[in-house]
Amino acid sequence: MLNLVLFGPPGAGKGTQATNLIEKYKLVHLSTGDILRGELAAKSTLGLEAKKYMDKGELVPDEVVIGMIEVKLDQNAGAKGFIFDGFPRTNAQAQALDKLLEKKNAPIDMMLALEVEKPELVNRLMGRGKVSGRADDQDINVIENRINVYNRETAPVIEYYNKQGKFRSVDGMGTIEEIFARLCNAIDKVNGGSGCGCGCK
Ligand code: AMP
Repeated sequence: MLNLVLFGPPGAGKGTQATNLIEKYKLVHLSTGDILRGELAAKSTLGLEAKKYMDKGELVPDEVVIGMIEVKLDQNAGAKGFIFDGFPRTNAQAQALDKLLEKKNAPIDMMLALEVEKPELVNRLMGRGKVSGRADDQDINVIENRINVYNRETAPVIEYYNKQGKFRSVDGMGTIEEIFARLCNAIDKVNGGSGCGCGCK
């Protein structure tokens, strides 16, 4: 299996790059933000409860997102691997993920952290808000709060993976293609060449 954490602040390009990476490496994309928006669209109790946090740019409680990931891992038992996007966002989530993957004997291989400067993050989020209709991308105060929450609560997760020797910093500035090439380079160093992650080239 190949299990990757795609990390970075809001607007770093995690979703865009995950879409390309899952195609190349044949992985399952698990984005907690996407799952939560799906719950919200379905007007489920979980979705409506999560909305209160999402609208303010605050984190949804750990036990809620950990429970969602557990369900998705079970639903995709035959997967060749996963890209975790927007998860884990706290050390408690990172610990819970390690426990869940321990059961599968398939630990996280690496954390790829996209580094993007703050003015560029704000630009990208405001630009996305115009087309996506996402409320949390259209309000500068919510955007600022999401970046602050990232710096305060999520950035410490880097140290969690750094201690395990799994942290890789990737320059997230440039074109989508340039950033994709950097990510693939980092993955292939660990994965033993380009391919789907099963050993084939
Ligand atoms: P994203 O699409 O990753 O930017 O997430 C959108 C919003 O969903 C965030 O601002 C949080 O409110 C919530 N969210 C997504 N993933 C998580 C997570 N792993 N932990 C807590 N809240 C999350």
